[in-house]
Amino acid sequence: MERVEGQSEGAESSGARYVFGPVFSRRLGQSLGIDPIPAKSCNWNCVYCQLGRTVPLRSERSEYFPSAEIVGEAEALLSKQAAGTIDWVTFVGSGETLLHSGLGWMLRRMKEITDLPLAVITNGSFLSDPEIRRELFPADAVLPSLDAGTPDLFKRINRPHPGISFHQHVAGLEAFSREYRGRLLLEVMLIQGLNDTEEALSDLAAIVDRINPDGIHLSRPDRPPVEPWVAPTDDEGFMRAASALGSVAQVLHPAESILFLDNPESAFEILLGVLIRHPLSETQLQRALAHWPEADASAFLDSLERSARIKKTERHGERFWVSMEAEFPSP
Ligand code: SF4
Repeated sequence: MERVEGQSEGAESSGARYVFGPVFSRRLGQSLGIDPIPAKSCNWNCVYCQLGRTVPLRSERSEYFPSAEIVGEAEALLSKQAAGTIDWVTFVGSGETLLHSGLGWMLRRMKEITDLPLAVITNGSFLSDPEIRRELFPADAVLPSLDAGTPDLFKRINRPHPGISFHQHVAGLEAFSREYRGRLLLEVMLIQGLNDTEEALSDLAAIVDRINPDGIHLSRPDRPPVEPWVAPTDDEGFMRAASALGSVAQVLHPAESILFLDNPESAFEILLGVLIRHPLSETQLQRALAHWPEADASAFLDSLERSARIKKTERHGERFWVSMEAEFPSP
């Protein structure tokens, strides 16, 4: 699953625990994020994941944090946002969002609280359960993942929990597409030599035909993939995918990440809140500090180097800051 693109100083600066942003999302515009699960909780272990390896894989749904507390925080933050600054409210977990068993209740409550459209970003693996599909009905858009058109490639890319099969995943997406009245927008993460070949894309197109989504977002792992050997597709790979998957497919080119760090007192906590969910390259961080006095910026960077809560990892020749808890194997 692709996360969000940029980060403005909003929710984190107010000490929010579950709500972040508004952030810019290539898919949804300005989005207020709600993260209802602990990092990193997932039933997949995708080779391209930007949150590090999933250790251990979790497949049990649970009320990881109290649903009422999460919605209460979102309500409080929404009441402080100026009109017109948010396009969507998006449930997007530090892992698989639907692992939170209160998601259906939270969606219904959020519908009572706000007129803003609601989106859920998910890997889609729980959609084989009819009850869980119904939980998602109040959402205006659901954005599940589909990276492979065969069981073998599904296992190689998404490395799911042993209890999840490719056929179950596809059947869940098909059933959801038939029942759901909102917008179903698939996401395909394209990896060079794995799922961007003619053969892999033709297999994927056959599955997409059965699902019949409203749209397909084609992305590539521009932020650090957990496995060092993962290479993002190139422009030709994007073109092959767009032509194989038809007119509903849309290429999402990398967007400029924006991080505003204005206050040296709160900058570290804000940065940490961002890094748990979205690694940042050194260049992005330097840009965020560009307007600081040189001595302050240099002292801040020194404090990051000494911190026991964040670390650096290298991918595609670029260094990224990530949370210390994220498991990124050395290149
Ligand atoms: S489903 Fe999303 S959070 Fe889970 S491993 Fe894959 S990319 Fe990471």
